[in-house]
Amino acid sequence: MTAIRAAPDIPQARFRDRLAAARDATADGGLSALLIGVGPDLRYLTGYVAMPLERLTMLVVPAADNVPVTLIVPRLEVDPARRAPAIRGGYVDLATWEETGDPHADVAALARAAGAGRVGVNDTLVASHLLRLQASLGDSEFVSAATVLGRLRIVKDRDEVETLRAAAHAADRVVDAIASGRLIGRAEADVAREVRDRLVAEGHETAAFAIVGSGPNASSPHHEASEREIRAGEPIVLDIGGTLGGYGSDTTRTLWPNGGAADAEPGDEFRGAFDVLRRAQAAATAAVRPGVPAEEIDATARQIIDAAGFGPNFFHRTGHGIGLEEHEDPYLVAGNREPLREGMAFSVEPGIYAEGRWGMRLEDIVVCGPDGPDLLNRSDLDLREVDGS
Ligand code: ZN
Ligand code: ZN
Ligand code: ZN
Repeated sequence: MTAIRAAPDIPQARFRDRLAAARDATADGGLSALLIGVGPDLRYLTGYVAMPLERLTMLVVPAADNVPVTLIVPRLEVDPARRAPAIRGGYVDLATWEETGDPHADVAALARAAGAGRVGVNDTLVASHLLRLQASLGDSEFVSAATVLGRLRIVKDRDEVETLRAAAHAADRVVDAIASGRLIGRAEADVAREVRDRLVAEGHETAAFAIVGSGPNASSPHHEASEREIRAGEPIVLDIGGTLGGYGSDTTRTLWPNGGAADAEPGDEFRGAFDVLRRAQAAATAAVRPGVPAEEIDATARQIIDAAGFGPNFFHRTGHGIGLEEHEDPYLVAGNREPLREGMAFSVEPGIYAEGRWGMRLEDIVVCGPDGPDLLNRSDLDLREVDGS
């Protein structure tokens, strides 16, 4: 296995720009402040990767430029908080609360200094904190900060794209290693463990998921790797990912271990369906460019699969945005008319599933470039007929 590779860094000054943009968007959205607890929004705005504790950690982002942005942390978390790029850069004031203090009252005071009124909270804020904040800010209206921050986070900057690319390439190397190793006679769960180990060895902080669906299990898109033993002459849907430098990887390839035996090769039905899937995935990817509605990428893949008679066998959306979260905006799904913009990053992952018999899916992460798709994954999309013994 290769040595751990460091993730590209987001430059410190980028957090100053993000905070300024967040203040503007907060004012434009008619909110007085954002109250951001632990989660991807906090990481996006400050670079602080806080532990999710029962103790409150919260960033208060006032819309007004003359009120400072403040990060409130429990006293015992002050050291890691000091190392966050936005604190080091002096873009955010750091405040601590003592073990016997009332941090919700502290946040309420800061929110009042910002004008209270309507405040935005992050979607991943736990209810226990939200309820106490609501009690402390009785007159305020609480809305989702996603209406403000979602607009910012949906477009990735250059460094975010390069981090996503590093994550994608790491996942590609894991796929290639799995495809060239032994598969036949191993339990799906054993292969999934190897996937997780390899993702971490390739620099991932976490290996969030390792779907290994063999034979009939391949027909369940979110199959959990089981103790089922992989056999020659059946497909494997391998869908793996995690985070590297905080940004997600997520790729799917379809393998076919044949044990070197001619009678274990895929039959005409499977080959024919795979050809349809391959064309659908390629056409959907090629359709990516600024201005194209998100739903049109879904429709492009679906039309090809429908025309081949597999419409009912493709029953999930074509893709999801990816960034600090594994699934985020934009979603490539019928009804989402949002036009793609340069810098949006998402999966293109059509699949065809014959219930209880077989399944196949291909998934790449694609960034919308200035005049076409920028493919982050680069491992072979063809049906991987491998020996596997
Ligand atoms: Zn999924
Ligand atoms: Zn996936
Ligand atoms: Zn995905």
